[in-house]
Amino acid sequence: DQMTEAQNAVRQPLFADLRGDIAVSFEFFPPKTEKMEETLWDSIKTLEPLEPRFVSVTYGAGGSTRERTHATVSRLVRETTLTPAAHLTCVDASRGEIDDVARAYWDAGVRHIVALRGDPPRAGERFVPHPDGYENAAALVAGLRRIGDFEISVAAYPEMHPEAASVVQDLDNLKRKLDAGAHRAITQFFFEPETYFRFRDNAAAAGLSAEIVPGILPVSNFAQTKRMAEMCGTAIPGWMGRLFEGLEERPAARGLVAATVAAEFCRRLYAGGVREFHFYTLNRADLSYAICHMLGKRAA
Ligand code: FAD
Repeated sequence: DQMTEAQNAVRQPLFADLRGDIAVSFEFFPPKTEKMEETLWDSIKTLEPLEPRFVSVTYGAGGSTRERTHATVSRLVRETTLTPAAHLTCVDASRGEIDDVARAYWDAGVRHIVALRGDPPRAGERFVPHPDGYENAAALVAGLRRIGDFEISVAAYPEMHPEAASVVQDLDNLKRKLDAGAHRAITQFFFEPETYFRFRDNAAAAGLSAEIVPGILPVSNFAQTKRMAEMCGTAIPGWMGRLFEGLEERPAARGLVAATVAAEFCRRLYAGGVREFHFYTLNRADLSYAICHMLGKRAA
């Protein structure tokens, strides 16, 4: 079966079979300051020659980055050959307001939306839909389909969304998003390849045939990663904490450890059949670029 095949595959020789026959995408967040803007654009220019099939720009909690997301996506259209994907959430906005944002993207030539419910503005609170808003991501996907012939990606959770009642219910929800017209799912980040293989098998068993692209978070700042993982329910393996322990003040060594961990992780995903990778770059190019390079992906 697929699981045994994947387990056998991870024992293949290191990097021997990586020919770059993969599709990659990169995720960025809209910058807050001029300095951050410079870092972001350096990263975009570094990653552009790897010919990602799309690059996506996140939408801040509660729509707080609405203008900045739009500005970043518009600049991608104007100044690069890249295909941008704009994230959009349902938080604190009416359907009319969200539809206007989507229409503005369509008019600006943006054809790919990452459709999300979003999180409540204050961490830990329950999500309450806007009275005239979309109640969840599936409803947003249906709304977007009425506006234009967008390519739509949605979120998936290999370790289950923290609010889901069960794995089965969470997969049902993913199915609703795909049935509403989404084209692919991108996963929350995770740190054990088996977590992804299990989820992929469960999704296939539930009859889902869309691409489920693993979301890769290349870890270099372990403390920051731990905080992010706690917020979204991603398990941090004990070995990872031990690997980064004591390297807080040793950036060069930490960078080597980070690259090794990330490359080995992606090699095992590749060995298990994965050919699509979505990188949470955190607006930094180096690790994502190095991983792509090791997977055999070369600049055009
Ligand atoms: P949904 O798919 O609507 O699901 C939310 C929860 O509700 C799930 O537990 C689901 O099982 C449950 N649910 C939904 N409908 C039903 C129903 N009818 N009955 C029972 N249960 C139901 N957040 C941002 O704010 N900005 C971003 O740019 C952003 N980008 C992201 C990109 C990716 C790839 C990922 C994985 C997440 C991203 N997020 C972003 C985080 C996301 O907004 C949160 O995880 C949010 O809590 C859930 O969004 P969703 O689209 O998965 O919601």
